[in-house]
Amino acid sequence: MENMFDLTGKVTIVTGSTKGIGKAIALQMALHGASVVVSSRKEDACEAVTNEINEAVGEGKGKAISIPCHIGYKEQLQSLVDETRNRLGSVDILVCNAAVNPYYGSMADIPDSAFEKIMDCNVKSNHWLCQMVLPEMVERNDGVILIVSSVGGLHGSTVLGTYAISKAADMQLARNIAVEYGPHNIRANAIAPGLIRTDFARALWENPETLKASTANASLRRIGEPEEIGGVAVFLASRAGSFMTGQTVVVDGGR
Ligand code: NAP
Repeated sequence: MENMFDLTGKVTIVTGSTKGIGKAIALQMALHGASVVVSSRKEDACEAVTNEINEAVGEGKGKAISIPCHIGYKEQLQSLVDETRNRLGSVDILVCNAAVNPYYGSMADIPDSAFEKIMDCNVKSNHWLCQMVLPEMVERNDGVILIVSSVGGLHGSTVLGTYAISKAADMQLARNIAVEYGPHNIRANAIAPGLIRTDFARALWENPETLKASTANASLRRIGEPEEIGGVAVFLASRAGSFMTGQTVVVDGGR
């Protein structure tokens, strides 16, 4: 009997995978047999998480390697892809997870530099990475792309407007790839998490009162944990999700 969630032999890049959601995705993928590339701006953090994942997986099928990369620089993204191919042979699954949000407040006041940084890191870098891996996936007639978006991309915001615009664009990037590359057996989906317990969202959950307000409208009345996104990523990347493409999967406790 085949395990439909098995990722044995699949090489996976996860951007921003030393903490939070990206780390949970990398760990779950490795536990399901994938070889994963742990990546973030900080080399020491990449090494530490790589060791942690390899210890957790043990002598199993999956393993982790470390390749630091700042997603804001095209040459670093190209090195991430090139080095992955050199060391692991291919890129079968790409997870565009890293993102930034340097601004909180009205769109009236956002500096151009902050607007550009959000669009560059959250949209353009994902577009570039996809461009870099898609030709190989076409040649192989197989590939999976996951883009970590946000429920923020599904509605307007008075304080996180530009971030929300970037996350809506990520959903559309997945849809466009699905349509353009589906005939080559390449699937692309976005994951839209609600509030998840990570450093990125700390301001929304650290204070008990804020947490209560943040989760009051969620059916499950609680915040999500990073591994709850990791499981969804394994599903979408594996044969279990093989007829799903172009979708945005909302994972928000029923909010
Ligand atoms: P997190 O815990 O702060 O982790 C962010 C990761 O990205 C870290 O590994 C960080 O490592 C890396 N990173 C940050 N800037 C980077 C850059 N410029 N280049 C490369 N790596 C970078 O954040 P998270 O909450 O897991 O967020 C992950 C994704 O989930 C993001 O796309 C975010 O928009 C989305 N999301 C989060 C929530 C939530 O509630 N947490 C909700 C919806 C969507 P270094 O600092 O070492 O680079």
